[in-house]
Amino acid sequence: MAMSHADGSMVRIEGVSKQYDGEQGTVQALDDVDFGVDTGEFVCIVGPSGCGKTTLFRILAGLEPATAGEVLLDGSRVTEPTPNMGIVFQEYHLFPWQTVRENVAFGLKKTDVPTDERERRVDHLVDLVGLDGFADSYPKALSGGMKQRVALARALAIDPALLLMDEPFGAVDAQTREMLQGELLEIWEETGKTVLFVTHDVEEAVKLADRIIVMGKNPGSIRQIIDVDLDRPRSRTDTAFGQYYERIRELI
Ligand code: ADP
Repeated sequence: MAMSHADGSMVRIEGVSKQYDGEQGTVQALDDVDFGVDTGEFVCIVGPSGCGKTTLFRILAGLEPATAGEVLLDGSRVTEPTPNMGIVFQEYHLFPWQTVRENVAFGLKKTDVPTDERERRVDHLVDLVGLDGFADSYPKALSGGMKQRVALARALAIDPALLLMDEPFGAVDAQTREMLQGELLEIWEETGKTVLFVTHDVEEAVKLADRIIVMGKNPGSIRQIIDVDLDRPRSRTDTAFGQYYERIRELI
């Protein structure tokens, strides 16, 4: 069970800034970004292209250092990738020479989870993401949506406290995307994971999140943090849904 930080947040982003020194001078990709995520919460980070979402994601994941500030997970500073975070990228990053089962089991190799428990867990996750019957298939036989389900199962295999997702449904068609959104919500409810989900799609954020961190650019910073007080499942044709959507579109 994940422990909470003293202020109640499982994840804390404290005064994170990032500058890139390039040929055209210095780019302030992030300016003093500050927020927390509570245990079990589903938080979306939304903003236009260039507002620093990818940069923030990489800093959160421990893949890139911040110029200033820090990221804390359960009170510990994140300085490199940690098994307490399961990461899902837009590109699936599956191993083409491994089956679905082997891909899902990948992160468990370096753990001390016993073999029979590993097999149980992998079977359960393959079922959970709706890929039973495909456990022995190779990625090339799968559609984009199915590949992303494998990537999600793989991220969940190490039983991380936090699921960190970067535009995970950006590469699939609209219909598949909607299906995956619904499935992710079901899995989130079933597992009680904390989810931090990056997207440029305002509708997706309103559909999914308990809370939306709205970012703007030049420099990349938080415009507003919005609680989404709507029952799930949510429908975009709902008046209140439309009001959240419009309010966020006006901000960015
Ligand atoms: P987003 O994911 O929201 O589109 P990014 O984090 O990719 O935003 O980029 C934020 C800003 O930082 C942009 O102005 C981008 O050009 C700049 N940037 C991102 N990565 C680098 C880099 N490696 N070197 C220089 N500038 C960068």
